[in-house]
Amino acid sequence: MPMHIETLSLISAVQSLVLAMLLWAGTQGGPGAVRTSLKLRAGALAVESAGWGMLAAQAWLHPAQLVLGGNALNLLAQGMSVVALRMLLGDSLRWRTTLAIGVIGWLGVAWFGVIDPDYRVRVLWGSAAIVADIGLRMRALLRGGPRRSSRARLILLVMCSASALLLIWRNGQLWFDLDPPADIIQPAVVNYFYVLLSGMQPLFLSIGFLLLYNETLQHELHVLARVDALTGVKNRLALTESATRMLSQANRAGRPMCVLMIDADHFKSVNDRFGHGGGDKVLLALVGSIRATLRAGNAIGRIGGEEFVVLAPDTSLEQALVLAERIRGTVESTPLLVDGHLLQLTVSIGVAATEPGETDVARLLQRADAALYAAKHAGRNRVMAADPMLAARRLSA
Ligand code: GH3
Ligand code: MG
Ligand code: MG
Repeated sequence: MPMHIETLSLISAVQSLVLAMLLWAGTQGGPGAVRTSLKLRAGALAVESAGWGMLAAQAWLHPAQLVLGGNALNLLAQGMSVVALRMLLGDSLRWRTTLAIGVIGWLGVAWFGVIDPDYRVRVLWGSAAIVADIGLRMRALLRGGPRRSSRARLILLVMCSASALLLIWRNGQLWFDLDPPADIIQPAVVNYFYVLLSGMQPLFLSIGFLLLYNETLQHELHVLARVDALTGVKNRLALTESATRMLSQANRAGRPMCVLMIDADHFKSVNDRFGHGGGDKVLLALVGSIRATLRAGNAIGRIGGEEFVVLAPDTSLEQALVLAERIRGTVESTPLLVDGHLLQLTVSIGVAATEPGETDVARLLQRADAALYAAKHAGRNRVMAADPMLAARRLSA
């Protein structure tokens, strides 16, 4: 099949440019490292496109211009892609290492391309730099993290391995073929395949990058949707999910589990005295006090204005009452400094334990709420255990 290196390069240039514009268009709206990484990836594609453009326009260029310019653009694009990927993965950027790889790669290419020309050594040198960049990508892809087993990571790993294999194959052809080409624009099977396959890489790598970008955003949204914006603890959704999970674990293991429902006493007066902003600071301090008393394995979440829930797996009612009393005592004995004034806050706590085989989180929380109501009714600043009879009476009221 007749193929033309310049035509293939032109197609790759246009393809990379279109991809760059598409990715750039997807970066509109909002800051964040994830979006910056997409911009950087788009920039890398634009640079890569210029590199392919130079190869396509080689007839109008001096050979030294093509070697120095084309390789500079290619190595720059590779380096930018490395940093973009590592930024997206939330890993250290390693931009100094990437820059060093690019500069050393380019100097070697310049030496063996212009000063002491040796095509095969020049290609080997440039390929080594790109393989080093690929290594930086693969290390970041293989490293642990919340989405370690993601499909996008796998696709990118396969693409990176394929790129490295392509470079190894190309160098193998140049060193072991009986009649290797003397430069990349010479018609030769190795050149056709190399230009064709490496011209397709921006497309496949960009698809993998976009998949990973999508996964990362989904993960960020998943996390954001489960965090209470003011205090940073779990919100109602996250708390319900955790409680459901803990409850089924408790049932499987035949172990007890308790929930504590905590409500600040007379919080309206705190707001009246310090304003809503002051009240918010008190809520933050209150979360700090409660957290300080919790054990590993306990979870805390905010389910209302100044209402918090503590999930205590593997905990009997007696142990949960001790924990609740510790929380109550800590809050009572920790005066809070708000806008230069000391505030003595107290909390009331309702405690409920699972009944054998219980699967309904909502009912468990209702019992804790009923106990909290009883604690408030009994004068506040106290801990009450759920009384199933009382809960039943309240629910039917
Ligand atoms: P009680 O002892 O009966 O619990 O009295 P209370 O004043 O704490 O009453 P209640 O729990 O019904 O009222 C909660 C108050 O918390 C009402 C509301 O103004 C305030 N609040 C709710 N959400 C927020 C918030 O995000 N920030 C601040 N500063 N206040 C809040
Ligand atoms: Mg209250
Ligand atoms: Mg309340």
